[in-house]
Amino acid sequence: MERCTYGSEGGSWKPAAVRRQGAGFLPYFEDAEKAAEELEITLTSRDGGKERIPMCGVPYHSAHTYVERLIEKGYKVAICEQVENPAAAKGVVKREVVRVITPGTIIEENMLIEQENNFLLTLAGSGETMALAAADLSTGECHVTELAGSLDWMIDEAASYEPKEVLLDEPLYGNAALRETLVARLKCLVTPITLDKWTEQDMAEELPKQFAQFAEVCTSPNLVRVVSLLFAYLKQTQKRTLGHLQRLRRYDAKQFMMLDEAARRNLELTSTLSEGKKRGSLLWLLDQTATAMGSRLLRKWLDKPLLNVRDIKRRHDMVEAFLADFLLLDEAREMLKQVYDLERLAARISFGSANARDLTNVKRSLGVIPELRERLMLSGHDELAALGEQMDGCAELRELIDRAIVDEPPVSVKEGGMIREGYNHELDQLRSIQKDGKSWIAQLEQQERDLTGIKSLKIGYNRVFGYYIEVTKSNLQHVPDRYQRKQTLANAERFVTPELKEREQLILNASEKSVEMEYELFTEVRTQVAQEVYRLQQLAERVAELDVLQAFAVIAQKYHYVRPVVHNEDRLSIKQGRHPVVEAATKVEDFVANDAMLDGGKRQILLITGPNMAGKSTYMRQVALITLMSQIGSYVPAEHAEISIVDRIFTRIGAADDLIGGRSTFMVEMAETCHALREATSRSLILLDEVGRGTSTYDGMALAHAIVEYIHDHIGAKTLFSTHYHELTELEQELDRLVNVHAQCIEKDGKVVFLHRIVPGGADKSYGIHVAELAGLPKPVIQRAKEILGELEGRFHAPAGKTDQKPDDRTQLSLFDYAATAVSTEEDKVAEATATLTTKEKEIIEALRKWDL
Ligand code: ADP
Repeated sequence: MERCTYGSEGGSWKPAAVRRQGAGFLPYFEDAEKAAEELEITLTSRDGGKERIPMCGVPYHSAHTYVERLIEKGYKVAICEQVENPAAAKGVVKREVVRVITPGTIIEENMLIEQENNFLLTLAGSGETMALAAADLSTGECHVTELAGSLDWMIDEAASYEPKEVLLDEPLYGNAALRETLVARLKCLVTPITLDKWTEQDMAEELPKQFAQFAEVCTSPNLVRVVSLLFAYLKQTQKRTLGHLQRLRRYDAKQFMMLDEAARRNLELTSTLSEGKKRGSLLWLLDQTATAMGSRLLRKWLDKPLLNVRDIKRRHDMVEAFLADFLLLDEAREMLKQVYDLERLAARISFGSANARDLTNVKRSLGVIPELRERLMLSGHDELAALGEQMDGCAELRELIDRAIVDEPPVSVKEGGMIREGYNHELDQLRSIQKDGKSWIAQLEQQERDLTGIKSLKIGYNRVFGYYIEVTKSNLQHVPDRYQRKQTLANAERFVTPELKEREQLILNASEKSVEMEYELFTEVRTQVAQEVYRLQQLAERVAELDVLQAFAVIAQKYHYVRPVVHNEDRLSIKQGRHPVVEAATKVEDFVANDAMLDGGKRQILLITGPNMAGKSTYMRQVALITLMSQIGSYVPAEHAEISIVDRIFTRIGAADDLIGGRSTFMVEMAETCHALREATSRSLILLDEVGRGTSTYDGMALAHAIVEYIHDHIGAKTLFSTHYHELTELEQELDRLVNVHAQCIEKDGKVVFLHRIVPGGADKSYGIHVAELAGLPKPVIQRAKEILGELEGRFHAPAGKTDQKPDDRTQLSLFDYAATAVSTEEDKVAEATATLTTKEKEIIEALRKWDL
């Protein structure tokens, strides 16, 4: 059927006007102007009475690529189709908008990324409490939850879905601050939505029919509202029953480890900080899944690490079982590789857009299940056996598809060639008429050659003239009178006979009928499969889970990971831990493993010092990643790991200017730190990397000091705090639960060598100048910096008598003390100490500070 589509921005759309025969994509008026501009196609116009109507178009067969481009640009595209048979229609053929494709409702395989979900997010509520519904039409999943707490937290939860489109209940849309933050954070199409009274009533009737667990799940007005908005929108845009969207999964965000956007980004969970690519992220490393469903599930697990020890152990148990039986692992993996994307296939089947190839792919996938199931059940491992037992191979669906559809069907569903011989008697008869007809024609050809004596006489076929007898010009004198001339070519003439025409009619009728019939039979089979779509979805879920677990086993085996011990005690202990991604990217043997020990008793905060490039942030990240990996059910890169469950991970790492948000490095730094201080609990893990570097030295130091104190005294969260303020190491004496460690370096031949080893105690000397030397700073600058450093050290480490300290004070006044005094008493002793330096010297010191040297 021919199609007419057009782009329309925002929430509104209007059906396309008239369309011309033979063309595909035909917008008019302002849509045409916009489409022509966005797609770089020619804008023309047609006569429309008084004025000319702007229009543009592209051929039907390539329309999908243009639709795709419009969707990518955030437009919605309405698809119009002829809804009556053109041959039978009187006047203009009737057309209707049959579907509106929007960024969040894509189901087309070529427009989706296999390993990623395509979520349409709906938010409803007041802003104080909100309900969220995230639906992926391409997989049929729909997650709902209620959120209360800080707005940041709610937005984080929404952002974790990486939605492609967001619908905001009108009151929320009216909240400009919320709307703008969402638009800035989610970077996708955000539109308002509301319900009129009638739709609301409709929804009240329809939703319990659509979702079996509706009453059970939607227990609050916000939840009812959010699901109603979502479903009303899907109904309005998709205009068909959505049988694959029948399960609402309600969850409580507090059941999972909460990861805010900064943590996700800084820990490079799904994309790298530097390039924003999957390659180099934790997901990239762990993604040894064999199916697209597994890959998508892994991403979800990374987004939502578990908090329940029993659930985590269950996953570890299964990884362990695979590792205890490599043969099982290999075999399961091989079988999984043969399973197609059942989730998306099921969605397309239910949506009515699957072709016969999709059905054979379902059949092939189902074909693997009995063996996989049996293998798991005989694995001797309870959890794997249970998972296997729950895999329903949907035997009768497989048998149905096998009986009905040929092994290698064509892509098109409108040209026949899909249905297997023997499936339907009537179709077989039609096919034999065609086949007989063809052999009859072959016989006729021979007979006519004999009768006329024309050896080169041929019977051919084309769409315009049907069957014809072709005779070359040189043989025309032998053509009998009964031949009727039809067409003249350069070298030949074409003829027909009444007998040939009669037979042609029979063959063509049979052929047309059989194509129609095949389509009907195919859609019947598709509908039958669609009725069981829930079973396919459940199977897909189990296959995906198995797939992620085997991927964990593969990675654990490859990189020699260990099973972590998880518990609820207040102790995190990692022996010889490694950073999983840095280790994989460097040569494994080159990575220096490090221990980490944190607890609520004596080691709540590790204060990490050491020069730049010494390995501080790698160390901090690796502790967080090992914790997170433990809680998603993976093994971890260490010799031994004991992990106490962490409820949230906060990070403040690296200096990233929020260019889009228009905030300076320092503002971003403070916002992220503030977030951690406000939200962290004693069960959280906080990573703070060089907090305070974004401002002047003393400001920064004072802030860093105050922040550490606050975490120590008021939060109790396990914290890794790296700093280039060596002076902060003195806090170890003041704060009971703070311990100094440093990234060890040695000097060799006047140069610094990073050992990447984290050892007890504070760094004893700044290696900044050596690092600057390594970086190639001109020799005179290095030389001068060394002199100035010497001078500064001489001044700051002045004998006690020269200061105002009492005898029981520490004998040496450190730079930190100066700073603290400067901040608290406003006696700027540092200013005094540096007053004698020349302006040039001050500039150099400032520059070195800025570069953190
Ligand atoms: P810092 O935070 O102290 O500036 P980084 O953690 O960024 O240092 O590490 C600097 C570089 O050193 C990293 O790019 C990494 O390749 C390497 N590195 C860090 N830790 C290790 C380690 N434990 N083993 C081997 N190389 C490491």
